[in-house]
Amino acid sequence: MKKNLIATFKVLEELGFNFLYFPSLESSQSKPNKEKALEELFKKNKECCKCSLCQSRNQIVFYDGNPYSPVVFVGEAPGEEEDKQGKPFVGRAGQLLTRILQKIGWDRKDIYITNICKCRPPNNRTPKPEEIQTCINTFLIKELKIVKPKVICALGATAGKTLLGKNIKITKMRGNFYSSLIYPSAKIFLTFHPSYILRNPSATKIFLEDLKKLKEYVNSISC
Ligand code: URA
Repeated sequence: MKKNLIATFKVLEELGFNFLYFPSLESSQSKPNKEKALEELFKKNKECCKCSLCQSRNQIVFYDGNPYSPVVFVGEAPGEEEDKQGKPFVGRAGQLLTRILQKIGWDRKDIYITNICKCRPPNNRTPKPEEIQTCINTFLIKELKIVKPKVICALGATAGKTLLGKNIKITKMRGNFYSSLIYPSAKIFLTFHPSYILRNPSATKIFLEDLKKLKEYVNSISC
């Protein structure tokens, strides 16, 4: 029905009836514009002050990368550098993550990167449960419904605990796939947070192996 309408409008437009052409009808036929949906989500919440983190933040740190990626990386919360630049994972931990991803052939601009909390907690403390709950209801759950990933990589215990909806032991559970309560249509993969690798360089090899396993899985579901 819409196709016929668009064809009719196009013929009329060719005949000079420009005022009858509705580009919005045409775009509703193509693939969803995830960037636009994310921008709208951001615009709607850019002054968010639903928890006290808004008092100390410089800005909300939303996402980076490709919203059409089948894999989403989720960290804990922005640090000082992220709060300054307005982008997730651009400080020391982020640079380490970027390097490790490059080593396994993933360019960070091709994957989607975000955090559980979008505002920097004072002195980089762990976000409180009520801050996490408020923030995922405002951003992450809606973000995931737009991006529709096949797999979510939880970086560290805070992301893992939030996505699985239960207490976890990251050292025991990392390197494996789980089901998510907050976004059931994706698998959750657990691994270390890159800040842990900065503090414990001997765990770099395990982190690298985990991410290789994740990439193999993503490749296997993409073809
Ligand atoms: N740590 C996180 O969890 N997220 C960032 O964006 C930066 C550091």
